[in-house]
Amino acid sequence: VSQLLRQQTRGGSARKLAQGWDPKELRYAPGQTTQIAFHNGKTAPATCIRCIDAPCAVLSDEETRPSNLPDFPADRNPSVCAAEAIEVPAAGGAPRVHSDRCVMCGVCASRCPVGAIRLVADTGAVVDDADSAAFVETSAVAKEQTELRSRFSKVPGHGTRIAETDRLVDTVFDRMARAGERVGDRYPNLITRSLLIGAGVGAALGRKGNNHMRMDLLLYPPGVERGVAAVEFGQEAVMEGPRDVLDSLAVLASRHKWDAKTTTAAVLSDSLPNRRSEYWHVVQDIAKTLSVKVQTITAFALMLANWNRIKLTPGVIASFYVDRDITSYRGEVLEKLIGRRLQLKTDPRSEIDLAK
Ligand code: SF4
Ligand code: SF4
Repeated sequence: VSQLLRQQTRGGSARKLAQGWDPKELRYAPGQTTQIAFHNGKTAPATCIRCIDAPCAVLSDEETRPSNLPDFPADRNPSVCAAEAIEVPAAGGAPRVHSDRCVMCGVCASRCPVGAIRLVADTGAVVDDADSAAFVETSAVAKEQTELRSRFSKVPGHGTRIAETDRLVDTVFDRMARAGERVGDRYPNLITRSLLIGAGVGAALGRKGNNHMRMDLLLYPPGVERGVAAVEFGQEAVMEGPRDVLDSLAVLASRHKWDAKTTTAAVLSDSLPNRRSEYWHVVQDIAKTLSVKVQTITAFALMLANWNRIKLTPGVIASFYVDRDITSYRGEVLEKLIGRRLQLKTDPRSEIDLAK
C-alpha cells in the first residue's frame, strides 16, 4: 500500500523494458553512462526506471531492522545518502543529486538495479535519465517493477564505477569533512552504515541515547551472520574503538547469548592509527587472550568496495583483521580487496595506510 501511495505521489510514471530487450550484461566504466548489453545483440545506455521505492535514496523497512536481533533499538533513519545529497522528487521523475553535497561514496550507485547512477570525478553522482531504445514509458505497478528488478538482479556486471586518483581521494575526504559539519555528530555512523549496506553487509544504526544497547552499528546478513561495529572517526577517537566494540560484544553475549568468538567485531574509522600506536598491540592482545579478532575497516576501504562493485563476504571481512605485525594496510588489506594495485602515490596518508 505504501508503495502504491508513493507511486501516486510521484506521478505514476516509470520505465519498463521494451519488447524483445532481454538484459544480458551491465558494463560499467568510470564516469560513463552504464551500457546494457542485451540478448538481441544490441547495447543501450542505462536509464532511470523511476523505482517506486527509490532504493538509491531510501532504505526499506526490512533493511533498517536487524534480522538477527529484531528487538534491537535501531534508529530507523531510512536515508541512503548520509550527506543528504540525493533527493526523490515528490512530483515524479528521476532522483536528483545535489552535486555540491555529494561525497562520491557510491552507495546510491551500488543500489541502483539498472546501473543508472554513475560517479563523475569532481562532480559527484549523476542519475542518467535520457531516453533509451531499450526502455519505454509505463504507468508501472509495483508487480511490474518487482519483476524487472528481479531480472536485473541476475544480470552480471563488469567494470568499475570510478577510478581512484590522489585528486579524487583529496576531494572525497574534503567533502566528507564538510558533510560531517553540515549533518552533525551522527554523520560517521550514518555514512559507515550506508557504505556497509552498499558493500552487501546488513547494518542497523544504534539509537542515540539508548543506554541499554549503546553499540554504534549492529551487523546482520547478508555479509555476516552476527556482528557489531564501533564507529570512531579521527585518529584520537579510533583508539577507543577496540574497547567500545568489546563492551558491545559483552552486552550481546550476556543478554542475547551471542557467541563472542563467532560474532564479527569491527572498528570503523576514517583514518588509521599510526604504525607505532598502542592500538595495534591492543588488537593483538584481544585476539590472543579472548580469541576475538577485531577487524579494522576504513571508510576508504568500504568506498573501494562500492566503487569496484565488491560485496563483502565473511571471508573478505575476516581479511580486515590486522595487528602489530602489519606492514601495510594498503598492500595487505586494500589491494587484496580490489585484486590489483591502487593507482595512488605511495606517500602514506592515514585514510589509506599506516603513517610512521
Ligand atoms: S554518491 Fe554517496 S554522497 Fe553522493 S549522492 Fe550517492 S549516496 Fe549520496
Ligand atoms: S536511479 Fe536507479 S534506483 Fe534510483 S529510482 Fe532510478 S532506477 Fe531506481
